Amino acid sequence: MPSKPYLLNKRPQNGGEHEVHSLYECEHLPNIEFRIPLGSFQNCIEAVSAAKQKFPGHVIDGCKFCSPQCHTR
Ligand SMILES: [Zn+2]
Repeated sequence: MPSKPYLLNKRPQNGGEHEVHSLYECEHLPNIEFRIPLGSFQNCIEAVSAAKQKFPGHVIDGCKFCSPQCHTR
């Protein structure tokens, strides 16, 4: 399976969480100035894991539109 580029929304949701999005699969991406590139991954599970390591102070969640299997909040 090819890997896909993911990004983190710099701006938190109302609940304080930062959402991970799949760049080419999401129709609800944050504005470009709020996108933090995370690199390419096989799936959102890997992308969320990487985001948590990179930003340990953030609450990280998957976008419910492009990464529903990682959306927990
Ligand atoms: Zn998304």
